Amino acid sequence: MAGTILYLENVTVDFDGFKAIQNLNSYIEYGELRFLIGPNGAGKTTLLDVICGKTKLTEGRVIFDNTEITRKSEHEIVKMGICRKFQTPSVFNNLTVFENLELAVQKHRGILASLFRNLTAEQAEKINATLENIGLADQAGVKAGSLSHGQKQWLEIGMQLVQDPELLLLDEPVAGMTKKETEKTGQLLREIAKNRSVLVVEHDMEFVRNFAQKVTVMHEGKILCEGTVDKVQSDPKVIEVYLGR
Ligand code: ADP
Repeated sequence: MAGTILYLENVTVDFDGFKAIQNLNSYIEYGELRFLIGPNGAGKTTLLDVICGKTKLTEGRVIFDNTEITRKSEHEIVKMGICRKFQTPSVFNNLTVFENLELAVQKHRGILASLFRNLTAEQAEKINATLENIGLADQAGVKAGSLSHGQKQWLEIGMQLVQDPELLLLDEPVAGMTKKETEKTGQLLREIAKNRSVLVVEHDMEFVRNFAQKVTVMHEGKILCEGTVDKVQSDPKVIEVYLGR
């Protein structure tokens, strides 16, 4: 599984004269777990918005799986295999864990249609395998509303996984988690990145140090440094940005 899944080429986003991202170039490999860090206002969220098609670029190109997606709609981009998870869990509290996954696996249908239609054997198999992966197999029949914060986050990651994305975009997945949940989430992301690519915006530096393969540091709309945890931690520009605040 070698090669590049995502190219960001000269990406620039201009909000009425304010450049939130400026001439950014980067790429993500197949099977990579990448962390995106940087102080508030660095442009991290805008970059995720660009990749999933929510925000359009002013200049530059985004290439996913050898296809240019720069002008594609969010809907088309999801269908091509990019899934985004926001910081706050958005599971259906009144449905069970299994039903939440059932909805996600048939996302193109309406809620009612999904719940009244039987799953194919393949879909049921996918849900069961995902329940194991996210550590919620014994909670399948439990209402999502009664899960812990960490379990809700894993369920939502599971809701992405059953859609078979090639690239997962996650926004601060461990915010508000206990140490144990954070560790478990790191292991889960590692497992996921064995056959998909994952890009995580993160503020928890201990989490980044423990689990990142490669880190991209953004500052003022540009990449300040990119590389291994050791490389970015010892980069004088990164130290200045973090310690100078
Ligand atoms: P981060 O996620 O790194 O904190 P953001 O991507 O949210 O940074 O924001 C980068 C910069 O772009 C910030 O200065 C922010 O105020 C600005 N910005 C973000 N979205 C918009 C918008 N829709 N219109 C104008 N400015 C925006």
